[in-house]
Amino acid sequence: MPVPSATDASASAPPPPAAGPAAAPTTPVTGWGRTAPTSARLLRPGSYEEAVAAVRGCGARGVVARGLGRAYGDAAQNAGGTVLDMTGLDRIHEIDAVNGLVACDAGVSLHRLMQVLLPLGWFVPVTPGTRYVTVGGAIGADIHGKNHHVSGSFSRHVTALELLTGDGETRLVTPEDDPELFRATAGGMGLTGVILAATIRLLPVATSLMTVDTERAADLDDLMDRLTATDHRYRYSVAWIDLLARGAATGRAVLTRGDHAPLEALPAAGRGARARRDPLAFRPLRLPAAPRHLPGGLLGRTSVGLFNELWFRKAPRERRGQLQKLTSFFHPLDGLPEWNRIYGPGGFVQYQFAVGYGEQEAVRRIVGRLSAHRCPSFLAVLKRFGEGDPGWLSFPVPGWTLALDIPAALPGLDALLDELDEEVAAAGGRVYLAKDSRLRPELVRAMYPRLDDFRELRARYDPRGVLTSDLARRLAL
Ligand SMILES: Cc1cc2nc3c(=O)[nH]c(=O)nc-3n(C[C@H](O)[C@H](O)[C@H](O)COP(=O)(O)OP(=O)(O)OC[C@H]3O[C@@H](n4cnc5c(N)ncnc54)[C@H](O)[C@@H]3O)c2cc1C
Repeated sequence: MPVPSATDASASAPPPPAAGPAAAPTTPVTGWGRTAPTSARLLRPGSYEEAVAAVRGCGARGVVARGLGRAYGDAAQNAGGTVLDMTGLDRIHEIDAVNGLVACDAGVSLHRLMQVLLPLGWFVPVTPGTRYVTVGGAIGADIHGKNHHVSGSFSRHVTALELLTGDGETRLVTPEDDPELFRATAGGMGLTGVILAATIRLLPVATSLMTVDTERAADLDDLMDRLTATDHRYRYSVAWIDLLARGAATGRAVLTRGDHAPLEALPAAGRGARARRDPLAFRPLRLPAAPRHLPGGLLGRTSVGLFNELWFRKAPRERRGQLQKLTSFFHPLDGLPEWNRIYGPGGFVQYQFAVGYGEQEAVRRIVGRLSAHRCPSFLAVLKRFGEGDPGWLSFPVPGWTLALDIPAALPGLDALLDELDEEVAAAGGRVYLAKDSRLRPELVRAMYPRLDDFRELRARYDPRGVLTSDLARRLAL
């Protein structure tokens, strides 16, 4: 079923020039955390040919693809070089509504896929905490969702992709026919090539609602015990931790787990009957954007502490089978466009690490340190990863992962996070490159043992070293 193209309304910046021979002026580019802007020639190819021309004609500072800029750090930046905004390539080529497959350009957002696919009874196999990411960005970071323990990460569901490599050639890459290039590209942070298009296997759903169970955990041990004992019963599972709680309450949390609601879970009469009449409707809520100029320090310890207290108390001790809109369950932050501005001009850092099962002690120590440091994070999320995926730089390992937002200007933050990196590396774990903006390069090799293979493959397919980014230079990827 061919589908017409639609430009995604979520891209907030005015579109940069289409890729062409004329040199574009440089533009400051940042990640979602708004730290460390660098300037680059921002081009927006409108065809595969323009993308090829942009890669072939890029200058000495090279080129990197960018999706919707939701990586928090510097992965989609390229100081002094070219950044290819891929959102101009946003056609959905074909939907196989019988077998659940979609073929589309890499610049299509997951939001757009949901709009088109949900009414047909299909959902994206993996979604992160925002649906404003592109298919290219989802493969480039090999993103995970609340269902990693069941479904693995995004690339597990990719059956083929078209990759424009640094030598200017376009290759059809499948996990079977070209496993090395596929595995290096899944989670390869755009450094093996520009993904032009991909085919993705979908998940069948009967409704656009979720049945959700919520419960509170009194402390970190209680939380980890509950997750370990019951995660397997849910497709989606996540826990929000109050990192400002201390003493006996350290690590207190709210667990939210759920699954796609079957049709019979929707009420036939009364409130909610509308959903039964149109069970696959996609109805996201969208509020006005956050104001452009907000003072820094709005999210200090006091305000975040208050928020956390209210959030924890507001959560039911235990509630089963609540019906929730899919967008409220997966993407609550998307309701407030450009919410990243609430951290003020200093921006914020997202820290996410993973350690294997058996390393609970490392998680305990890290949560203890963050609590002791009184880290004002109102978004701290713990979950369990399932089996790892074969992407050489893919982040998930079977075990525990914790992600948190922290204002970049927090005193002592650099030293604290450096210590946490050491702790994570010593436990055999890793930090997530899509969220990183500050890791020291010497730790990356220990965290990602296939890094040498990755470098060797990049040299093979990109002998001129055309594909690069601020992240690649900073971490010597
Ligand atoms: C609110 C929020 C919640 C999030 N939750 C999660 C989560 O739960 N799980 C998770 O895994 N991540 C999460 N993320 C991170 C996000 O999913 C990833 O950073 C994702 O890569 C962003 O996609 P993007 O299209 O914005 O890509 P960008 O941020 O623009 O780029 C990210 C990387 O992908 C590469 N890339 C982009 N397009 C292409 C292409 N066409 N070809 C080759 N490479 C490309 C870039 O070079 C870069 O290295 C979250 C981010 C936000 C803001």
